[in-house]
Amino acid sequence: MDMLTLELTLTLAYFFFAVLLASLWCMRRSEAALFWWASHNLACSAGHLLLAIGEPQLQGTMDVLVAGLLGLGYLCFWVGCRRFAGQSVDWRLLWLLPLAAAAMVTPYSPAGDSLAAKSGVHSLMIMLLSAVCLVREWRAQMGEYLIMRNLALACFALTFVVMLARLAESLVNPPQAQNYLAHNSGQAVISLISLSLVMFWGISVLLMSSERQQRKLDKLARTDALTGVLNRRGFARLSGRQFDRCRRDGRPASVLLMDLDHFKKINDSHGHEAGDRMLRAFADMAGEVIRPGDLLGRHGGEEFCALLPGSTVAEAYTVAERVRSRFEQLRIEPGIRTTVSIGVAQVDFDVGNLLDAALQKADQALYEAKRLSRNRVSAAPV
Ligand code: GH3
Ligand code: MG
Ligand code: MG
Repeated sequence: MDMLTLELTLTLAYFFFAVLLASLWCMRRSEAALFWWASHNLACSAGHLLLAIGEPQLQGTMDVLVAGLLGLGYLCFWVGCRRFAGQSVDWRLLWLLPLAAAAMVTPYSPAGDSLAAKSGVHSLMIMLLSAVCLVREWRAQMGEYLIMRNLALACFALTFVVMLARLAESLVNPPQAQNYLAHNSGQAVISLISLSLVMFWGISVLLMSSERQQRKLDKLARTDALTGVLNRRGFARLSGRQFDRCRRDGRPASVLLMDLDHFKKINDSHGHEAGDRMLRAFADMAGEVIRPGDLLGRHGGEEFCALLPGSTVAEAYTVAERVRSRFEQLRIEPGIRTTVSIGVAQVDFDVGNLLDAALQKADQALYEAKRLSRNRVSAAPV
């Protein structure tokens, strides 16, 4: 392998990822990190193109330009990571970094015209970037866990090690001619691994951003837009998992079906807006009353449902009674009476469709509560 082939391949690989990430950014402008990661790839692509053009001996202005472009590229990558974590960037001193990188390879700098020193500066820059990204993504993983972030972490750690090896190798065997790869198999292998890492970096940030987007869409698909609780589909999906756990551990489970009383009248006399406010207030209050592991969903219109894993019908009744009495005490606006009727039923694990069967039983109990005067809780027989 020779330097020209390596530099041209790096140019194309970086360019490919620049196009890919920029296209994704055009479709998803809200993810600013994609713009910065695309800029990283573009700046590095330009830097390596200049290196390829400058073969076999890069000197003077071109050299400084290459160092500046690569420094700028690495800076953009780091900015991308910060933006991905939703953090702002203080540019006051940051723009000096690419200048510092360029200054390090001028003929007047300590690196001077030595190829070994320039290669060392380049390795050090990438090591610094990998270390900084490794630490910050490690911290970010504690706040928002993404499976694909593990790939990025592995990538940063591997890059750090490979660049350390490259630095050590160039200290032991200082590159003399520009096309030193042709004469040094150790450096050639390290360069090939670096090439794979360029793709590894591009792929890992792309997957990380796609995973986050997918999670957002999944959440949207299972959330009720007005109240923020689970919608019917989300409730059915998550309750399936809870049923499996309860069945495996031999624990009971109960459901609540809650229907706001005379809600149509409130809409008619106080307006739809007041009705919406009441729905949100109910969802917030019920979310506070149930335990963190319980599920709360909007069954439709002014009906809500809850699943209490581990609760018998008697325990669920107590929870339902607390919801009923807390709602009665809520003051949405003067003149609005806030009351709810609730049907409670214990899940029968011997029937086919667990959720539908339990909700049907709770619905019968709810009908009974409505019939008996409303603003009350009624439990279905076990
Ligand atoms: P009951 O005590 O027997 O439950 O009587 P109700 O008036 O609560 O029940 P009904 O089924 O007659 O009326 C439900 C009303 O809920 C009718 C519908 O316009 C209203 N509704 C459904 N979805 C929404 C919503 O998203 N926002 C508002 N403001 N109203 C809604
Ligand atoms: Mg209803
Ligand atoms: Mg109602």
